[in-house]
Amino acid sequence: MREKKCTMCGEVKPEGCFYWQKRKNGSKYRRAICKSCYSLKSKKYRVDNLDKINEYNLKNRDNRLVESRKYYQAHKVENAESNRQRANDWYRNNPENREIVKQRSRDWQKNNRERSRLQHLDWQNRNRERYRKTQVAAEARRRAKKRGNGGEYTAEQFDHVCEYYGGMCLVCGRKIKLAADHVVPIAKGGHSYISNIQPLCKSCNSSKRDKHQDHRPAGWGNAFPRRLLTA
Ligand SMILES: [Zn+2]
Ligand SMILES: [Zn+2]
Repeated sequence: MREKKCTMCGEVKPEGCFYWQKRKNGSKYRRAICKSCYSLKSKKYRVDNLDKINEYNLKNRDNRLVESRKYYQAHKVENAESNRQRANDWYRNNPENREIVKQRSRDWQKNNRERSRLQHLDWQNRNRERYRKTQVAAEARRRAKKRGNGGEYTAEQFDHVCEYYGGMCLVCGRKIKLAADHVVPIAKGGHSYISNIQPLCKSCNSSKRDKHQDHRPAGWGNAFPRRLLTA
């Protein structure tokens, strides 16, 4: 193993302890000072020239952004884990930017529905336990909200509603198992009296999500016996 004497600390070390340096013509040679001295020296340089470096960085901000985006794209896969970590830390430490981040991600989801759906499924598969817990928590919140919004309907009332519409889903018209959908969603303060309930099939119900959409024909209340219409 070839050795070399560092001109800074004076120690004799194996060549591997010295960084390569490129000449203009492309050939390269080992630096005169060893790696640890080099890092000390550059650290000292950074401290001594803080203002100069900051000014330089500021002046080249756009260039640096372009370069770092290029780097990010080129090394996206191998750096996935640390990139995610950094993004999470940044999100945690910059609460004032959270709304912007959330909006950006909503926009992305809107423009990439299929990819977003697949990513979502993938996440669920990788985080089964956590996913289950979020579901349970969301359901508990929903129940609490439901209690808070007030109202209740009976099975008899819901059967009556279903019969009234011929046992069909009010959106797709299929005669399949119907679920009670809140016209004004619970999340938006909708109560649980029968006057806020419409029959939808499971798939139409889940694609409606938290939108306020009344699919009942006008005047639906008239066909309701008074004893069944509590509110
Ligand atoms: Zn040295
Ligand atoms: Zn349907």
